[in-house]
Amino acid sequence: MSDRVRFAPSPTGFLHVGSARTALFNWLHARSTGGTYVLRIEDTDAERNRPEITSGLLSELEWLGLDWDEGPFYQSEQKERHREVVQDLLDRELAYLCDGDNEPVKGNQIQDGLAVRFRMPENEVIEFEDVVRGSVSFTTDDLEDFVIWRSNGTPMFLLANAVDDADMGITHAIRGEDLLSGVPKVLLLLQAMDAPQPTYAHLPLLVNEQRKKLSKRRDDVSIADYRDRGYLPEAMVNYLSLLGWGPPDDIEVRPLEEIVDLFAIEDVNKAAAFFDLKKLEFVNATHLRELKKNDFVERAKPWVEGNTVPWSPDKFNEDRYLTMVDLVQEKLRTLSDLPRFIDFIFLDKPVDDPDSWHKAMVKAPFAAEILEGTFNALTDCKWETETIKEVVTQVGENLGIKLGKTQAPVRVAVTGRTVGPPLFETMALCMDREEVLNRISRAQSRL
Ligand code: GLU
Repeated sequence: MSDRVRFAPSPTGFLHVGSARTALFNWLHARSTGGTYVLRIEDTDAERNRPEITSGLLSELEWLGLDWDEGPFYQSEQKERHREVVQDLLDRELAYLCDGDNEPVKGNQIQDGLAVRFRMPENEVIEFEDVVRGSVSFTTDDLEDFVIWRSNGTPMFLLANAVDDADMGITHAIRGEDLLSGVPKVLLLLQAMDAPQPTYAHLPLLVNEQRKKLSKRRDDVSIADYRDRGYLPEAMVNYLSLLGWGPPDDIEVRPLEEIVDLFAIEDVNKAAAFFDLKKLEFVNATHLRELKKNDFVERAKPWVEGNTVPWSPDKFNEDRYLTMVDLVQEKLRTLSDLPRFIDFIFLDKPVDDPDSWHKAMVKAPFAAEILEGTFNALTDCKWETETIKEVVTQVGENLGIKLGKTQAPVRVAVTGRTVGPPLFETMALCMDREEVLNRISRAQSRL
């Protein structure tokens, strides 16, 4: 029989990076073992209406490419089944009714206004093998009689979770470490239902730079936000796969198909995993660099089209844009970096970045001399990358300074910023001489 795994999120209105890692590890286990991947929405607690809370979740899973084989199933639709199990436990006196003061109440029929508690056996040890954490044990004396049915007529999470796993024939429950402490209660419920127990794998906690658990308040935890900031889905899943797992050959940045081939849930380790934004950026930059040009252009569309771009549509020049793609693709960390690298070409004037101006014009020596020398040299030189580079180098040499320092005020005059695409190529291939000279002279008057 092949494995059946499930991703069972409680909807929160967005897909958290920790949840996405859980979704991914379940998906990887299913895909690498030829098993079945089931999506179950654990919405018994959800107060808001279903499409609103789950549509984002589903589209973000699709964006990540984590397609499911069965579902989505909605736990809230199984309420009658959950009720039946609770009633059966009451009938067998494995559970009892209790009132609003937590006092046991006689009788064994589920009733409005009364909750149901599971009767914890005394002095038993509950032990299980967790794939990640090894052998785990709890004693029932440390656990309370826990509520399985609320007085408002709805099932509690652990009950619904246990019943659904049993009914769906789930063989593996791969999920976050925060759920570990609920396992003994779920095992008791499964035992009472005479259902087999799934294999558990609890994934390590995700922590931020301060080694604190990732939180919505402090950290960027929404997958949709990363998507909107220009991260690629293949980079996202690649990075998430490294949170608690690593490939045996230590090659970390690679396509998902290879990760599927190499992944084994047994190789996940239990140490807390640092959600490292710098590393995520690096992984993203690497995947961005590797995109074929057509693909890059297609995926970059939302960042260079529409009303968020700083230039007006009639200023945009497709040929120049495509040339710029060749020059900047390897420099980007995210797609949202792209407009900043090319905007000055499609604007009437260089952008106005006061810090850059201060650094390259006000603080640096010889800015005026460099601008003047460059203006003169560019007036009649051949308009071609190597020549432009040579003449600017010469201007610096006459003043006794290196090209890097000579280039800075020229770059700020032309683009407005100290950081940007390769300057001489950009000037030669995507700007006219007249435009460049105008910008240099504009900077001269401003100085
Ligand atoms: N619904 C639970 C959560 O989102 C996960 C339950 C499970 O994976 O067993 O925290």
